[in-house]
Amino acid sequence: MALVVSVIYLDGDQEKGTKISRAGKALVQFENGDQFEGEFGEDLNKKDGIYTWASGASYEGTYVDGGKSGQGTYVYPNGDRYVGEWESGQKHGEGTELYVNGDVFKGHYEHNMRQGEGVYTYASGAKLTGTWDKGAVVEAVWEHGSRRLSTRTVLKKLHSRLSKRFSVSSARSFAKLVQEEDAEEDNGDGPVKLKPLGVIISGAPASGKGTQCEMIRETFGLTHLSTGDMLRAAVASNSPLGQQVKSVMESGGLVSDDLVIQAVRERLDQDDVREHGFLLDGFPRTAAQAEALADLGVSVDLFLMLNVPDDALVARVTGRRIDPETGNSYHVEFNPPPEEIEDRVVQRADDTEEKVKVRLEAFHDNIGNIVTYYEPVMVEIDGLQAKEDVWTEVEAALKQARDDAEAASKKEKDAAAEATD
Ligand code: AMP
Repeated sequence: MALVVSVIYLDGDQEKGTKISRAGKALVQFENGDQFEGEFGEDLNKKDGIYTWASGASYEGTYVDGGKSGQGTYVYPNGDRYVGEWESGQKHGEGTELYVNGDVFKGHYEHNMRQGEGVYTYASGAKLTGTWDKGAVVEAVWEHGSRRLSTRTVLKKLHSRLSKRFSVSSARSFAKLVQEEDAEEDNGDGPVKLKPLGVIISGAPASGKGTQCEMIRETFGLTHLSTGDMLRAAVASNSPLGQQVKSVMESGGLVSDDLVIQAVRERLDQDDVREHGFLLDGFPRTAAQAEALADLGVSVDLFLMLNVPDDALVARVTGRRIDPETGNSYHVEFNPPPEEIEDRVVQRADDTEEKVKVRLEAFHDNIGNIVTYYEPVMVEIDGLQAKEDVWTEVEAALKQARDDAEAASKKEKDAAAEATD
């Protein structure tokens, strides 16, 4: 017990001394630099007040027989705090620890140690809900957003890296440990990584797919895969594929399934598609292509169908002009190209009335079979509306598909976590 070097009673005439001699409010200085300002009882013991240690720690609360008992707040030198119940100088009962890093533990204590149920909430929002025994966790579930680690995983992670039992202090570093382990091994326990969306947009030639695709790409970040663009690029570069498909494309007919399927298969395997998902435009155009896509195990979250009557399509196609520099599409009547590019816009070789009829026929012959593959995820949109109104519906359908995919991912993850319990 540190030596008292001065006692100043505060409730009377500031009577001074070097030991507690009566009940009342006093400021006591100790030889080691500690001090206490508070009430002393008839038994000359502290009743309540603020004890400040030379280290910077402090306790503000009630005392019984001179020991911390009842309600009190202890502030550690670094600023961490315990607010709660005390008995015989120890944390005992319900209490909350608030750490300067923003973490909070709320639970039950016995003899200074966590005992029984408690929740450790990390500043990041993660939460460890568990049961403690003599300061060590014996059961815990860790949650962060939609991610959940079962007791077994929590303990496994800790046992592999820390002491045999999950110690008091290890609760504080658990969030960091999880992060580190995630960085080391992506073992399926990682944050719920959403499966990239797979979307198909379908519609007859000039139904407005290109315009919507551009907006989908910008808004949702999907990789736009247009088989028409891929094939035209092949023709333009005079590649072996280009040489094979040039004449059939010019006639308005369909390129053979084998060639298109091969080109799509290679494209779907690339990193940008794996990472950002895909927006298939102009594919599948036949039942065989839909079948091939299914065989590849590609899952489709949304099949958008733009409906436009044939006569409107013929007018759109024959007036369509393309800017070869930007790829932007215009219409001589409905959306004329700006004056400065008027001279350079071109008409696609297959955008004539004669060829569009062939293309429309191919579309109608096949579409009935194709939709049977995608009926559960099909959303039909009236493509005769203004492009902004079409976009409103397209955007809503994509958001819905994204929410559905997210909910499905979470469900899968939760089921997996339950299974490991
Ligand atoms: P598009 O730009 O989508 O109208 O496609 C232009 C032309 O490319 C079509 O008329 C076909 O000759 C060819 N083409 C594009 N996609 C396919 C496909 N999935 N299957 C067969 N031919 C295709």
